[in-house]
Formats: sequence, structure tokens, C-alpha cells
Amino acid sequence: MDAVFGIDLGTTNSCIATIGEDGLPQVIKNLDDEFTTPSVVFYDEGNEYYVGKEAKSGMSVEVDRIVAFIKREMSNKDFNRTIDGKKISPVDVSALILKKVVDDANEQRSYDGLPPIHKAVITVPAYFGNMECELTKQAGRIAGLEVLDLLNEPTAAALSYGTNGLEGKTFLIYDLGGGTFDVSIMRMKNGELNTLSTNGDHHLGGVDWDTSLLDYVFMRNNLDVTYEDIKEERESGKMLLAAENCKKNLSKSEKASFKLVYKRKQYITEISRDVFEELTSELLEKTVDIIHHAIKISREPNVKIDEVILVGGSSYMPMVKKRLQREFSCPIRLDNLEPDRAVAKGAALHAAKLVGNTSPKVFIGTDLASRSYGVRCYDNAEDKRYVANVIKRTDDMIYQGTHNFCTISDGQTEVLVAIYENISEKDAIDLGKCTLVDEKKLVWGFPVEKGTPVIVHVSRSSDSTVRIWGECQGKRVDFIIKYKGMYSEQEIENMRKELETKRV
Ligand code: AMP
Repeated sequence: MDAVFGIDLGTTNSCIATIGEDGLPQVIKNLDDEFTTPSVVFYDEGNEYYVGKEAKSGMSVEVDRIVAFIKREMSNKDFNRTIDGKKISPVDVSALILKKVVDDANEQRSYDGLPPIHKAVITVPAYFGNMECELTKQAGRIAGLEVLDLLNEPTAAALSYGTNGLEGKTFLIYDLGGGTFDVSIMRMKNGELNTLSTNGDHHLGGVDWDTSLLDYVFMRNNLDVTYEDIKEERESGKMLLAAENCKKNLSKSEKASFKLVYKRKQYITEISRDVFEELTSELLEKTVDIIHHAIKISREPNVKIDEVILVGGSSYMPMVKKRLQREFSCPIRLDNLEPDRAVAKGAALHAAKLVGNTSPKVFIGTDLASRSYGVRCYDNAEDKRYVANVIKRTDDMIYQGTHNFCTISDGQTEVLVAIYENISEKDAIDLGKCTLVDEKKLVWGFPVEKGTPVIVHVSRSSDSTVRIWGECQGKRVDFIIKYKGMYSEQEIENMRKELETKRV
């Protein structure tokens, strides 16, 4: 039977797992003998790449040759990084990270005479839209993988727990990683896993704790700077690593020392866990607010949480469990102290199920969409344009609906139907918070009175493809919202072949 794999392509760290002979998921260590690999790429002057721990250590010397936190940029159309005159895209960088994780695992497997890795499930954040998903798949293919499926990270984390104590429960997955925070509320009933709500902040994670700590150390040593002021400077990477180390030490001990080198001078600062917790308490409170919003927008109003599951490396910080314990009177679980591996393990279980290697006790039921879509409207009273959502991310995945709009002036012979994407669950949203997807003219060709109905129909299928069509005076325009990746089939194949010959 084909071996299959689950890969957690993380913002800060990535991890690969498979199903062991005992039928349980197990993480494959990298060549540094570690369970996770930093999602950091270093481009050297000789057109070679280094990924992982080696690349991360380069952060201390050559910030301008390092790419980190690339997952946050997956949907950023304005992402603009050039190294040695070569433009790089989030897909290229993600492909290199995947290749490193797979190559290392292949080498470990080769000692046991096992064949190379080919088929895998890759996990994506619940907030990824169709576009980011398509780009992630392309990255996987460039790395030489057959991407069996993409799986939401919180679903993967829940799968890794199996039926283990979760049957019949409504639980909240709190995923605080290095650069992102995600929360999902899920329920398992008769082995079926359903998502009731998702929410998150994609610019909130461990790195914010690191920069707060660094700013505090600057302050304690009367250095009149903040991380924001020095972040472009060469030394900044080294300082951030020192902050991260100190933070991790504070997870283990009540006190830690921070060794800062700034302008060639060394400053040693003793920090207690209490102080660290106090200076980062606002960040933690942000995660609590996000949880409350997730509960508020849940498909089941006032949903009661029976259990909280902590995943993501930043959940190792004792303040997380402590704070959540105050908020919820239910059990708070930290997966055998391995929150950074739960997602990859769940992905491996899903991969095994897809190829028929196992008959799982848990299966995935309804999922939630990650994006809302609306049409651009004009508010006469306020004299401003806004977006009226016609399908929301909180609506059922399989959805059909009709919305009534109208023409805004006498004598109109056409309307411009403009479709916008957003992450809001509200009916009306500022135009500035939405991204234009497509616009088309709906022309009927003869003048009609102001207020003539324009009907917008919408449907969403289980694979999250959204269809929207507008109708007026017997004419219609159609939109299908399904993204293509950024590279053609031929380009992917060429890139795959080029990368195949390289060892990252
Ligand atoms: P992830 O993206 O889930 O791999 O999480 C990475 C983040 O977890 C980084 O910000 C790490 O600094 C943080 N992290 C990992 N281990 C610890 C620890 N023992 N204490 C505090 N933060 C940690």
C-alpha cells in the first residue's frame, strides 16, 4: 500500500507526518533531528537556497537574503521581493520549504529502505480563500508532490485527537502560531466533525511577543529605539532571535536573561515571567476578543464550549493556558505538550483515509467557507458606495439565495455589476475593506425608471465554488468565482524539473 503523508506548511515552522506501523500518526524528524523545520529560506549569492534552521541562523547576518513568514503573503498581490535581481513569489518560497521538509524526510526514510515521498495532504489556515488554496497546491506540485487534498489546520488538529474524549463535545481550537492566530469552534457527533465558526488575526502570533520583549529590553537599557525603528537594519534579525530564545526560556523558567547586542555593545537584562506576561497581556487579550467574536458569529448562537484545545508553538507559553482557564471553566488541553505537531499528524490521518489505508473513526462533515462575497451598491442618503454581501462566510457551505437591488437613476439602460470579496459576516461593508473580484456590464439596452429591480442570484457548492448572476429586464451576467493559480501547467512542470535536481 502507498505510504502517504501530511504536511503542516506553517507560517513559522513546518512539519511532516505519516502513519506508522501501529496505525498511529507519527512525525518524521528532519536532518537536524528536530520535529519541525523553520519556514525560512536563505538565498545565497551563488543562486543556491538554504531552508530551515540553517536559513534561520542566517537571519542574524543577512536579513535582506532571508524570506520568512511567507504564508502571510500568499494572497498579497503586491508582494514584491527581489533577491539578486530575481523576483520571488510566495509560491516559489513555499515550494522550497515543502521541498526541504520532504527531502529531509526522504533521507530519514532511505535509512530504512523506504521509497520516496510522493502523495501528501497539505494543511492550510481556515481563513485561506480559494486563491491561496490554489497557490498552495501549485507550490506542492512544484516541490514534486501529488497533492491529494488540502485540509484546514483546525480540522487537522481535531483529527489528530481522534475520538479521544471529543465525541459528543463542542470544542474550541486555539491555534497561536508564530505569525498568525486562528480559532475554530467544532463539534464531533457520532464521529462526524463539523465546524461551527472560524475567526482569526493573520498578523498576530509569537513574533509579536518577541518584538514586545525586545522593545522592553530597549527601554530598560535606556536605548531610545523600538523594533519598528531598526527592523530594516542588519542586526534586527539577531535581536529578534535573542528575543525568541528568551521568550522560550521563560516558558520553562520563572526568570531568563536577554543578551542584546546593539551597536556593538552588549546589554544583559534579567526578565521575570511575570514581567513578560504583563507586558504582553494586551496581545493575549486580543486573542480572547477574537474567541468571543467567534462564539458570537457561530452557526449556533451562544454555543457552549466543552473543551479548549491548544495548538501552535506559542501555546507553550504558560500565560495562554492560565488566561484561558480564567475565561472558560472547561478543560484546556495541550496535546501531550506537542501542540506544534498536531496539525501534521491530523493531515497524515486524512491522507491515509483518502487512499483507503485506514478506516477512520472520525470523518469530516460540514466545513465553513472562508470568504464572503457581495455586490457594489450606492447609498443615496449617505452619498457613498459600499458592498452588500450576497453570500457570507458564515452561511452554510452549500447555499442558494436571491437578493433584490434596483437601478439608481431614470433612463438607465445598463448596470455595472461588480463583485467584491471580503471576510466580514455583516450585510454591508465599506468598499475599502473589500477586494474587487470581477465586474461586468449587464446591458438590456432601453431606458427604465429609477428603482427597476435588478436581481442577484447566488449559489455555493461543497467545493466552495461560488456562482453569482445578475438579472434585469430578461438579460443576465454570470460570474464563477474559482481561482486559477499563478503559474500555467507548463511553468509548474518546468519549475518542478528545475527544483528536482537541487538539494535545498
Ligand atoms: P508554529 O507556527 O506553530 O510552529 O509556532 C511557532 C511559534 O511558537 C514561534 O513564535 C515560536 O517562538 C513559538 N514557540 C515555540 N516554542 C515555544 C515555547 N517553548 N515557548 C514560547 N513560544 C514558543
